[in-house]
Amino acid sequence: MTTTEDSRTDTTPTVDAVPEIAPDAAHPSHPGPLETAQVQLAHAVQRLGLDTGMHAMLATPRREMNVAIPLRRDDGSTELFHGYRVQHNITRGPGKGGLRYSPSVDIDEVRALAMWMTWKCAIVELPYGGAKGGVSIDPRHYSTGELERVTRRYTSEIMPMIGPERDIMAPDVGTDDRTMAWIMDTYSVNKGYTIPAVVTGKPIDVGGSLGRATATSRGVVHSARAALRETGQDLDDVSVAVQGFGKVGSHAAEFFAEAGARVEAVSDQYGGLHRSGGLDLPRLLDHVRRTGSVVDFPDADPIHNDALLTLDVDVLVPAAVEGVLTAENAEHVQAPLVVEGANGPTTAGADAILTRRGITVVPDILANAGGVVVSYFEWVQAQQAYWWTEAEIEQRLEQRMLSSYGAVAEMARREGVTLRDAAMLIGVKRVATAHRTRGLYP
Ligand code: NAD
Repeated sequence: MTTTEDSRTDTTPTVDAVPEIAPDAAHPSHPGPLETAQVQLAHAVQRLGLDTGMHAMLATPRREMNVAIPLRRDDGSTELFHGYRVQHNITRGPGKGGLRYSPSVDIDEVRALAMWMTWKCAIVELPYGGAKGGVSIDPRHYSTGELERVTRRYTSEIMPMIGPERDIMAPDVGTDDRTMAWIMDTYSVNKGYTIPAVVTGKPIDVGGSLGRATATSRGVVHSARAALRETGQDLDDVSVAVQGFGKVGSHAAEFFAEAGARVEAVSDQYGGLHRSGGLDLPRLLDHVRRTGSVVDFPDADPIHNDALLTLDVDVLVPAAVEGVLTAENAEHVQAPLVVEGANGPTTAGADAILTRRGITVVPDILANAGGVVVSYFEWVQAQQAYWWTEAEIEQRLEQRMLSSYGAVAEMARREGVTLRDAAMLIGVKRVATAHRTRGLYP
């Protein structure tokens, strides 16, 4: 077997035969995200025949910052949080990656998410490395003023690491456009002038891009459409279940429904809904806007989050958190197509089982790349102080998603591997090639 890449030539060595890794034997059934990310990287390194020195460079974050964030609460008391920023790789350009506010955040989760950003940016050919940040806080339990103070303190603590040419943040779980505005303001005030390109996913009125808020979800739907077309189907033929009803899941469900798909189940952290034949998405979105959750929506049956993952639907979209498809439940997944809206929803053990069962998985590093693609557009627009129309953005996003999907699918066919393995081969190879081309200093 040889590993080649259609649009590029490089000197990365190739191997003729690669022994299959058996992830189930290699690690426990509930591995953390970093373990999943490392297994995926090891698999790609082995297939590409990269040496152990290169493997070590690719497996290790370039820079990490671990900060303490004291918060003065509204009642006058003080509370301390831990925050992190990890730049996994900055060889192809500045670090790029979201900021997560969740009680589950720890350094290993942030390392895994930063590594996935590196491959993702390379796969969709953005001039970025991969980075991620997080604060271990449950934002639901703090006032807007408290969240603003946490965000501004976190930003000032990691200030030396970030900037339009160094590392650019964006929203992720538990953060949003308002969080990005606070970061941009804190950074700009400290530098003495307005610097919109330090973050993406900002509100439009301070330099955000049209189409950014929905870009990840549009990319998920473009990926699903491209995958369905390979089996002669289209979106109006299929039923869909979406886990997670936040920034990614809610818009994905909306766009699937607009394209004619039957969205039969959705969920959030409070519970789920199921309705054969499809949910009424406009009414559901209105219900969520009013109540803050999908729970108690009329005309649908409650469904447990675990049961949603094994429903008899055509397309399953995990769009909440990592590690939900495990070696235990992967045997029971009925959907023939899984499109990963979330980062790392499938453990390596689950991945092996889904592959054996013939279930196609469009991996996170491809399927949810629409967000970082339009973040890149936002960064370019901010640098030029010239803003594009929504139509231009949507058209360029679709074109970038479809061409990236096409390259990954072509690699998968040529090498006889899964879409995840093909995406990893492309992403890891591009980053390894950049390392070789730049050379090692000193
Ligand atoms: P969000 O905070 O807006 O929404 C998260 C959703 O998941 C919420 O509906 C929440 O209730 C739900 N949820 C949380 N825990 C859950 C659980 N255990 N079971 C079921 N639902 C649960 O976050 P988001 O921005 O939509 O991100 C979702 C996923 O997509 C994350 O993995 C994130 O890293 C990934 N992602 C986001 C973007 C982006 O642009 N926001 C881009 C690429 C990838």
